[in-house]
Amino acid sequence: MAARTPEQLPEKLAQGVLAGQRRALARAITLIESTRADHREQAVRLLELLSPHAGGATRIGISGVPGAGKSTFIEAFGLHVIEQGRRIAVLSVDPSSALSGGSVLGDKTRMERLSRDSRAFIRPSPAGRTLGGVARRTRETILLCEAAGFDLVLVETVGVGQSEIAVAEMTDMFLLLLLPGGGDDLQGIKRGIMEMADLILVNKADGDLLPAANRTVSDYRNALRLLHPKSKHWQVPVRGISSLQQRGVDEVWQTVGEFWRSMQEHGEIERRRAEQARAWLWNEIQDGLMTAFRAAAAVNSALPAVEQQVAGQALPPTVAAQRLLDLFLDKSS
Ligand code: GDP
Repeated sequence: MAARTPEQLPEKLAQGVLAGQRRALARAITLIESTRADHREQAVRLLELLSPHAGGATRIGISGVPGAGKSTFIEAFGLHVIEQGRRIAVLSVDPSSALSGGSVLGDKTRMERLSRDSRAFIRPSPAGRTLGGVARRTRETILLCEAAGFDLVLVETVGVGQSEIAVAEMTDMFLLLLLPGGGDDLQGIKRGIMEMADLILVNKADGDLLPAANRTVSDYRNALRLLHPKSKHWQVPVRGISSLQQRGVDEVWQTVGEFWRSMQEHGEIERRRAEQARAWLWNEIQDGLMTAFRAAAAVNSALPAVEQQVAGQALPPTVAAQRLLDLFLDKSS
């Protein structure tokens, strides 16, 4: 590969991304995901160049426990969407890659037909040490996909813990994919997660599972009535679908359209995105400050001893934190 000066790389990549070149998009995402300081600088430049061209896609988040049928659904849904003349990008936020080094979403071959289609772009979850880090990269990747001209960006995550919140906070619409059955505990889906949903789909509503799926649909409809609605302009539908038999999947696309129109009409997309952008800004500031804090020489040299004193209960954490902050602020002022 020809050597390129660091100054040129973001410009080159931006051109390729705007021209819709998949290779350029893939390389741009790799740059975004890198933790090297010089790469980070280039990534920020790249985002600066591409941001004016971003924002045009419908951003959909989807969550469900492993085995709920996310990849089967996304493949069926994605193939339907591209038949309608749209282009879809599928990204994932996989907290397991942060926790175990392995990945629930990324390892196996998923969505084979969709991944072979040039109108679709599938990118597994970036490896990262923290969910926050993974989420941050995914947010930026959404912007890159939009600049590359994708109309729909789907961000999937597994139904465990905090990752749903992270995904709901970077998308316009949040889908929950459930399994039939599950009984009283409603599959352990926390109330907070249900409150984030804009559409609830009970997958595998076919064959022997159909009666259980129908019961689950009515259980969730009842449960939703007791929850605080996410938007007063949208009543959250609960529906049975079969991703395997591709029943109900086309209707999901219609529902996305209805949701989008209703939210647009009431300025809710703009409002959600504005809130998300503000929260993202503060996350970036927090992360940036933490990085600077840890990198500050005065903090760095004092830290091991202070940590040890705190662990040994020789120093209260509040006092220790204040001392380190004083060192940091003196240093940087
Ligand atoms: P993921 O882990 O959420 O991505 O789930 P997968 O899409 O890999 O699906 C898990 C299993 O459920 C696979 O064996 C699928 O074939 C099966 N499955 C997915 N969707 C359906 C469905 O609509 N009906 C039935 N009966 N099985 C399904």
